[in-house]
Amino acid sequence: MGQSYMQMFVEETSFSNRMVLGAVLPTSFWQPLPHFLQSWLRNYTAGTLIYFVASFLWCFYIYYYKFNVYVHKDAIPSIKTIFMQIYVSMKSMPWFSLVPAISEYLVENGWSMCFPRISDVGWLSYARNVGLYCVFVELGVYWVHRMCHDIRPLYKYIHATHHVYNKQNMVSPFAGMALHPLDGILNSLPHMVILYIVPTHFTTHILLMFLVLMDNKHSRQRKWETLAFNGCGVPYCTSHNISSQLWSLYNLDGLDVWNSL
Ligand SMILES: [Zn+2]
Repeated sequence: MGQSYMQMFVEETSFSNRMVLGAVLPTSFWQPLPHFLQSWLRNYTAGTLIYFVASFLWCFYIYYYKFNVYVHKDAIPSIKTIFMQIYVSMKSMPWFSLVPAISEYLVENGWSMCFPRISDVGWLSYARNVGLYCVFVELGVYWVHRMCHDIRPLYKYIHATHHVYNKQNMVSPFAGMALHPLDGILNSLPHMVILYIVPTHFTTHILLMFLVLMDNKHSRQRKWETLAFNGCGVPYCTSHNISSQLWSLYNLDGLDVWNSL
C-alpha cells in the first residue's frame, strides 16, 4: 500500500482524536502527545464518558424513575457495590482502550487488510465482508468466553473477577465493564484478528467494535433490559451471571448454533 493510501487512515483517526479530545481536554494537554498516545487517550476518554453517562442514565431510569417496576426494591444494589464496580472498571479501562489503539496503529502502518473507502472494493464486496466480520467476531467472542469458563486457570485468575457480581442485588448498569483487564483484552482480540482474514472497511470496523458490544441477536430477552440491569449489551449476560446453573453456557438462550460446533 502506498504512503498516501495509508495517510487516509491517519487522517481519519486524527479527525476522531480532534473531535473527542478537542471537546473535553485543553489542546495544550493532548496535542503534543505522539499520535498513538492521542488515539489511546481518545479511546480512554470516550470509553469512560460513555460508561459513566450511559450507566448513570440507566440507574436513574430503573432505580428511581421506574422504582420497583423492573427491579424489585430489595434487589437494588448498594452504593458500596456500585462504587466497587466502578473501581474495577476504572482500573481496567486504560487496558481496554489499548486494544483499539494498537489495532489502529497496525492499520495506519499498512499491517492489515483494511481499506479506507467503500469504493475501493464496491458495495457488494463490502456487504459480504461486513457479514463475514460479524460472524467471525461473534464466534470468536463466544469461544473466548467459553474458554474462560472451561479452562479453570482462565476462570480462576481472570474471568472470576466479573462473576463476583452473581446475585440480583449485585448487578447494576456499572457492572458491565467490571472485568479483569485481560478479560476485556481477550474479548476484543477477534476484532483485531479479523483484520488479517477479511478485507474490512476501516470506519465500519470502528463502528462494529462499538456496536457488537451491544448486540441483540442471541436472545428473546430485550436488549435494553440487559443493558439496564447489568450494563452489558450481551442479552444473556444477566442470567449467565446470576444463575450458577447457567455458567456452563450450554443452556443459554439462542446460543445453539455455536454450541453445536
Ligand atoms: Zn462468564
